[in-house]
Formats: sequence, C-alpha cells, structure tokens
Amino acid sequence: MEVKSNISLLPFNTFHIEALAKYFAEVNTIEDIAALQNESLFKENKKLILGGGSNMLLTKDFDGLVVKVSIPGIELEREDLHHYYVKVNAGVVWHQFVLWCIDKGYAGVENLSLIPGQVGAAPMQNIGAYGVELKDTCVAVEAININTGEQVKFSAADCEFGYRESVFKHRYKDEFIITTVHFRLNKEPRFNVSYGDVKATLDEMKVFDLSIKAVSDAVVKIRSSKLPDPAVLGNAGSFFKNPTVSFEKCKELIEKYPLMPNYPQPTGDVKIPAGWLIEQCGWKGKRVGNTGPHAKQALVLVNYGGATGHEIYQLAMDIKQSVLDKFGVEINPEVNLI
Ligand SMILES: Cc1cc2nc3c(=O)[nH]c(=O)nc-3n(C[C@H](O)[C@H](O)[C@H](O)COP(=O)(O)OP(=O)(O)OC[C@H]3O[C@@H](n4cnc5c(N)ncnc54)[C@H](O)[C@@H]3O)c2cc1C
Repeated sequence: MEVKSNISLLPFNTFHIEALAKYFAEVNTIEDIAALQNESLFKENKKLILGGGSNMLLTKDFDGLVVKVSIPGIELEREDLHHYYVKVNAGVVWHQFVLWCIDKGYAGVENLSLIPGQVGAAPMQNIGAYGVELKDTCVAVEAININTGEQVKFSAADCEFGYRESVFKHRYKDEFIITTVHFRLNKEPRFNVSYGDVKATLDEMKVFDLSIKAVSDAVVKIRSSKLPDPAVLGNAGSFFKNPTVSFEKCKELIEKYPLMPNYPQPTGDVKIPAGWLIEQCGWKGKRVGNTGPHAKQALVLVNYGGATGHEIYQLAMDIKQSVLDKFGVEINPEVNLI
C-alpha cells in the first residue's frame, strides 16, 4: 500500500470539487489499515475516511491523510428459517450489494436501490429511501478504532441509528474506520410500496406480480427521473435534512401556509420537507455563479461546473438563513462538510 502526496480529490467526490489531499492512501484489507496505522505519517496527520465521496462537500484542500476504503467482499454467513445473514465489506459499492441481494432473492434492501456510495458509509447516516432505512436490515457493524487500532463490533443498538444519524456521526465522530457491515435479509419479502411514487410507478410498469426485482426497478426508475445523475451534474443528493418542529410551531406555520406538507412523528413533533421550505423561499432552479439548487429538486445543490466547495457552502448558508428568516425553522446539512 502506497501513500501518495498532493493528490487531487476531484475524481473521488460526486460534487466534482477540486481539492488536494496532502496525503492519500487506499486500503484494500484490514492488514493494510493496520500497516498504515503504524506509519508515523498516520499518527502525525489528521485523517479523512473516504468511501464513494457522495455525501461530502470538500470546502478546502485537505491538509492531512485521506484514507480511501476499498475492502471488497460479500459473503453469506449463515441462514435460519426466515433469514439470510450476510457480511459485506466496506469497499463494496452499495448498489452492487443491492443487485447481489436481488439476484439471490434476499429481501430487505430493494427500496434502497441506486443510493450512491459504499457499504462502509451506509451506517454513518443510516441511509434511507422510500420508507426503508439501513437500520431495518443491519445487525452489526465492525470497525477499527483510528487511534488505538482496536477492532470493535457494534450491535445495531450500539449504533444508535436515527433519521440520517448514528453514533459514528456524533459520539464517535472521526474515531472509527468501518470495515464490515452485517445484514439480516428476509427469505419472505415484506414489500413496502406505500411511500412516494413507488406504487404508481409499479402500476405504470404494469407489474402485477410483485417481486423485489420489480420494486428495485421501480425505485431506480423514479430516482433516475427525479435526481440529477452525479456523473453528469455534480451533487451529493439531499443537501439538508428535513427539519422537525414542535406540534405548536407546525400549527402556527399551517395557519400562515395552509398547503405546507407535514408529517407527524411518533414523538409528537412534526417533520417538514426541507425541499418545500427552500422552494417557497424562491431558490428552486436559481443559479448562483457555478452552483444552485436543482430545477427539479430544490433540496439538491448542484455544481454546474467549476464551482468551489466554498461557493457551494456559501450558497447552502444563504439558503439556510432565508429559510430561518421566512419560517423561523432551522435546516441543517445532511452532507458532511469537510
Ligand atoms: C444523487 C444522490 C442521491 C442520494 N440519495 C440518498 C438517499 O436516498 N438516501 C441517503 O441516505 N443518502 C443518499 N445520498 C447520500 C449518499 O449516497 C449516502 O450518504 C452514502 O451512504 C454515502 O456513501 P459514500 O461511500 O459516498 O460516503 P462518503 O461521501 O465517502 O463519506 C460520507 C461520510 O462517511 C464517512 N465514511 C465513509 N466511509 C467510511 C468508513 N468506511 N468508515 C468510517 N467512516 C466512513 C466519511 O468520512 C464521511 O464523513 C445520495 C447522494 C447522491 C449523490
């Protein structure tokens, strides 16, 4: 394993931001990680753990060591009457894992089709889409402590998964390299097609016999029509998380904005789509220099070409401020700001 210097991160982030890494190393095995941890360069520099770079905004050059995790491998560990237990290493591309499951007939991740990135990053924010989250199938996460080299296995409960949240984003931020994720997949599918346009798309596709392949195809169809393809237009998906407000605050807002979509939560609080708030502030499709919120989905900020990380960061902060001024609601980035 080679440690390189002054490497452009442009090919390694879906925003297509040009930023330099002072040092860059790619790890393909656990042994590579151990070897890297023994290097003085590892100890002396701050680290950035990199997967597919689809959930980060590089706001400046990275003055430290970027560790690109590329550990391959998917393995069926065991099965019982109702489940398959599968171990997937961090470097596997998430959608390749989903396709592998569909091919084998292992159910549970089909709604998460086409989410960019790698398996190792999926627990970080408990990826979710179309009514399903990683936490619904994840049973454990293996990780290496960056500072001590200790290998730790976290149960799903230890990971404290929440809406785009986990223990790795807060208490253990920058402390672990996730190496493997363990899943429990269903032998008997439990279809979840009630969310968004999934049911309508299946009808449109004239699917009469529901299957995990059909659900995956429908999700791929919807995503491809709604979201800009990062290979064509740089972006990192939803830039902001949907905010949650108190019931009283929501009532107050609905009196003023009767058409505001809102989703009551089991806690009594109410979730509001950040995309709607941003759109109401007039941002949808607005171009600011080389960046702007996408014309079809205001929640997605795009790089029209040549945008700097700082430029996109500034736009995000302006959007955040205008939502706060108009609605008194704070929206926060889902994307990791580096
Ligand atoms: C077009 C588009 C659509 C998207 N749609 C969705 C969606 O529907 N739902 C959703 O939840 N997300 C979505 N995302 C966001 C993104 O795909 C996910 O967050 C994904 O899990 C990021 O994976 P990655 O490998 O690219 O992570 P990266 O961007 O490389 O990293 C993200 C964070 O995880 C850390 N990290 C990465 N790998 C490891 C590791 N092995 N160990 C420890 N830390 C690590 C990084 O340091 C960083 O903080 C979308 C993104 C795009 C571009």
